[in-house]
Amino acid sequence: MADTIAAIATGGGVSAIGIVRISGGEAIAIADKLFRHASGIRLKDAQNRRMYYGELTDAEGGLLDFCMCMISRGPESYTGEDTVEFHCHGSPVVLSETLRAVFSCGARQALAGEFTKRAFLNGRMDLTQAEAVIDLIDAETPDAARNAAGQLGGVVRAKLESIYGALLDIMAHFHVIIDYPDEDIDEFEVQSYLSMLKSAQDEFLNMLSTHVRGRVLRSGIPTVIVGRPNTGKSSLLNALLGYDRAIVTDTPGTTRDTIEEKALIGGLLLRMIDTAGLRKAEDTVEKMGIERTLGAVENASLALVVLDGSQPLRGEDFDALRLIPQDIPKLAVVNKTDLPCILGSDELMELGMNYCRVCALTGEGLDALEAEITKLFPDFVGMPPSGEIITNARQAEAISRAKDSIDRAVDSLLASVTPDALLTDVEAALTAIGEITGKTMREDIVSRIFERFCVGK
Ligand code: GDP
Repeated sequence: MADTIAAIATGGGVSAIGIVRISGGEAIAIADKLFRHASGIRLKDAQNRRMYYGELTDAEGGLLDFCMCMISRGPESYTGEDTVEFHCHGSPVVLSETLRAVFSCGARQALAGEFTKRAFLNGRMDLTQAEAVIDLIDAETPDAARNAAGQLGGVVRAKLESIYGALLDIMAHFHVIIDYPDEDIDEFEVQSYLSMLKSAQDEFLNMLSTHVRGRVLRSGIPTVIVGRPNTGKSSLLNALLGYDRAIVTDTPGTTRDTIEEKALIGGLLLRMIDTAGLRKAEDTVEKMGIERTLGAVENASLALVVLDGSQPLRGEDFDALRLIPQDIPKLAVVNKTDLPCILGSDELMELGMNYCRVCALTGEGLDALEAEITKLFPDFVGMPPSGEIITNARQAEAISRAKDSIDRAVDSLLASVTPDALLTDVEAALTAIGEITGKTMREDIVSRIFERFCVGK
């Protein structure tokens, strides 16, 4: 039996409620030593998943809190083991004292992700669902959270299990053919296997095609804010964030390093990088900042080119424009609409990109800017996802391998290659699917995956 683990499951600060969670064979016995229900009922006799209100004490009987306690007996609990939760007042001191009491009764500190790892090892969820737990916790946008919730509910698992089952059938059949070479391969069956393999191919292709949006859902769109010094890049970043993150001055060269912040703009998560203004710099720090700017521009998927609408375009504006890779979406943001306008629409049209006029100081025009940005990414907005988007690079890589194997299996079947050639490819696809769901996953890689979790989850 696994040992009993415990951790504070809620965030570190002061809050209304904080939860200490215990899981393992001794969980209920340990909790029973520390908790007294008003009626005197013992936790071993308590009902599953019912809240009991009572006194929580340390191991010596000293009162710590009045709290709610809930037990969840295995195997129907989150971890698959007996689990207890103390819902205490959310004082960090109360919670750490409670945890200390639990340790002194025999539990040990849970490692990062250990509750969910146990859930996975005990078959309560597959690896796609376990990874969805961390995605749900880490989600930075409503869409990312919805997608993770769908995957926690088993959307990816269900798709892969159905393909896995079909491939197993094919394996079983072709093993029979190898064992009994005199048996004829029925043409009708070959066609049905071909159609199974082709529908697996389609499903894999579908899943892979979602991964571009998946990367954006997880990490946001890397967006550079570029332009010559003093056009208002830092002011624009602050205006989009809704708070002052970057220092704004009228001294050129103030932003000497790149500043990165995320903001939800029109439903899209932008990872915005305010770059050091591009100009001929003398001092080393500013030169390094400009080098970083160049690196950020190279890796960007969206460029916002900030221009000062109250001044004519200059050579430095064109220098900034020239840096932006040809193939990424870009938008000119003509700032300072509160000042007399010098930059006319003809001049702006010649830049060859859409533009919108804003005032970073007052926020005027930011709604239109949001709308323009959203238009540049039509595939990433719209219907909220419900789990079908593959956000995880590990999963996408394994799906791509599975698809390659199925491609080869289809070719073999069409070319009437010997059954063992086909079996090798179908087996490789099964292994790749198994890596995604955790069926055939190496222990060290599983451990690495759960290390990304927080303690208590
Ligand atoms: P950066 O060097 O491009 O990052 O520019 P900053 O954001 O530091 O702004 C440079 C100067 O322009 C500061 O004095 C800002 O207050 C001013 N500024 C920025 N946006 C506006 C605006 O919309 N209107 C006016 N009048 N001034 C602005």
